[in-house]
Amino acid sequence: MLGFNHVLAGSIVAVITPAPLVPLVAFASHFLLDTTPHFGRSATVYPYTASFKRLLVLDAVLCFSALGLAISLFPDQWFIIAVGAFFGALPDFLWLLRGRVAGIMGKFLDWAEWIQWGERPYGWLFDAVYALLMTIALFLLSQT
Ligand SMILES: [Zn+2]
Repeated sequence: MLGFNHVLAGSIVAVITPAPLVPLVAFASHFLLDTTPHFGRSATVYPYTASFKRLLVLDAVLCFSALGLAISLFPDQWFIIAVGAFFGALPDFLWLLRGRVAGIMGKFLDWAEWIQWGERPYGWLFDAVYALLMTIALFLLSQT
């Protein structure tokens, strides 16, 4: 799943979960989201083509935009939101180890790939809907 949705989910977790549990719940939210249909398995956008790199840059910009939005809605909770966003997105950074590690970590990465059965090239449509719904949820939470 694209990173900005993990940042949005981590931000929501941060504002609705007791602070000590935020890292764990945000980390778990990543895998929950990854079990839903989302973008992937594209014939043109795959590591490390030019279009893939452009997508990474766009996703990074959207990640920071999502973080900025969440913090602007909950300015006093900026720190815990940053923690939630970090742990929500963290598993995607573990991908850099893919194919380079064996043992438990290798098995874990196999599992993390296996749960993403719903990856499909048009999955960005789903990603867009999740982003919209989570943005609305953040707005509504900020009104309470
Ligand atoms: Zn992921």
